[in-house]
Amino acid sequence: MLLSGNVWTMTELGQAEAVYLEGNRIAAVGGLEDLRTRYPGTRSVRLERITPGLHDAHTHPLQWGEALGLLDLAGVNDPREAAQRVAAQVREIPPGAWIRGVGYLFEGYPSSELLDQAAPHHPVFLRSRDLHSGWANRQAMEAAGLSARTPDPPGGALVRDSGGNPSGYLLEHAQDLLLGATPKPGLAELERGLRDLAARGYTATHHMGSCPLELAERLARSDQLPLRLWWALDKEAWRGVEPGWRGERLEVAAVKFFVDGALGSRTAWMVEPYPDGSHGMPLDPLEFIHREGAEALRQGFGVVVHAIGTQAVRGLLDVFSGLAPLATGRPLRMEHVQHVRDEDLPRFRGLPLALSLQPMHALEDAALVRHHLPGREHEAFRLRDLWATGLPLAFGSDAPVAKPEVLDNLQAALHPPLGNGQALSLEQALWAHTRGAALAAGWNQQGWIRPGAPADLTLWEGGKPVGRVLAGQLELS
Ligand SMILES: [Zn+2]
Repeated sequence: MLLSGNVWTMTELGQAEAVYLEGNRIAAVGGLEDLRTRYPGTRSVRLERITPGLHDAHTHPLQWGEALGLLDLAGVNDPREAAQRVAAQVREIPPGAWIRGVGYLFEGYPSSELLDQAAPHHPVFLRSRDLHSGWANRQAMEAAGLSARTPDPPGGALVRDSGGNPSGYLLEHAQDLLLGATPKPGLAELERGLRDLAARGYTATHHMGSCPLELAERLARSDQLPLRLWWALDKEAWRGVEPGWRGERLEVAAVKFFVDGALGSRTAWMVEPYPDGSHGMPLDPLEFIHREGAEALRQGFGVVVHAIGTQAVRGLLDVFSGLAPLATGRPLRMEHVQHVRDEDLPRFRGLPLALSLQPMHALEDAALVRHHLPGREHEAFRLRDLWATGLPLAFGSDAPVAKPEVLDNLQAALHPPLGNGQALSLEQALWAHTRGAALAAGWNQQGWIRPGAPADLTLWEGGKPVGRVLAGQLELS
């Protein structure tokens, strides 16, 4: 198959006119006429732009799939309208299966009645936009074992009728009683999350934890993985697991640790304090990450560590300097790298390290940065300074934290919302979503368009992905 258009090879060749695929490999790259002559009579497809297959270098596909399955009630203020939306779902979901939703804001606390009418044979649980309250039908309350005898839990309350029976509305921690009865996400959610990524033009994603490996292994065994999956295990779950490939699409590759929390809850660990005097919250102790990380590296795993605050980044640089001699196969990974002090920038260079960033988070977080770190905006989202370290950048979304929409990352990288002089070029941003991400995975023969590389491509029209080629198979929407 011959694909022509603006081919961004991400190699020293720069751009080309066409790429020729043979089976699941790229066979040739170059001028269109030349390739037509060399491969006469081949099926050919013309596109605006062709890039190496996009990676989302940081996702939680199980939780993304779960989020996609929730009924979106954003903007709904009337319980009757919410109930109508539930009634519409009922026709699509088998009786007995849960209907869940999120996003409404009501004036009052409706009873279960509207939901009982809308979904007499399905348990229903909807949550308010701020997640501080929830609305359930009778089926759901029965499934959770709620009755007049159920006491209000600490930090929560059940709204009750005159007989003391829960009426269907739950405040604060009373929602936990219901959530405990809802099914845990499983294979269907993982598949849904991965399929959504594939439909957005990604050919690979890097799973960053919170999903049982067995689910991915089941998909791999039955050839149901819609993209290549680089897998990081939770730090509690790696011992006894063999690193390596499960088929051609799943690599069990790394172990994930956390140095700190996040900016929004002021748990990102900072060198300088927040305006309230706190410094954030260290999570896994650095000595623990060093010790466990060394062990994981010796067993053939990579090491992936979440670090958001300036102190977290600084401490992790110390740990990674110590681990560097053990990181021979694939690079160590620092996830987020959201806030970096000037004096720490020179310490990145030369480490066997890849930097996994989510520029799109700045779209939401710019206001948080100004609020929590006034005067230190220049330390946040330093895309350009980190690019200048010479280490590979790998871009992702952290879905479900943000929608895995590549255009949001391009937008945020080309026009950083903090306006702090950290803009990248389109070519750099796309490199970080393709070649940079492949290098971060340790997949050194991928993420570029050159002879011999796997035929994984993303196809673009009108400035956005409209399809892909995965292992030589063309999918156009
Ligand atoms: Zn994450």
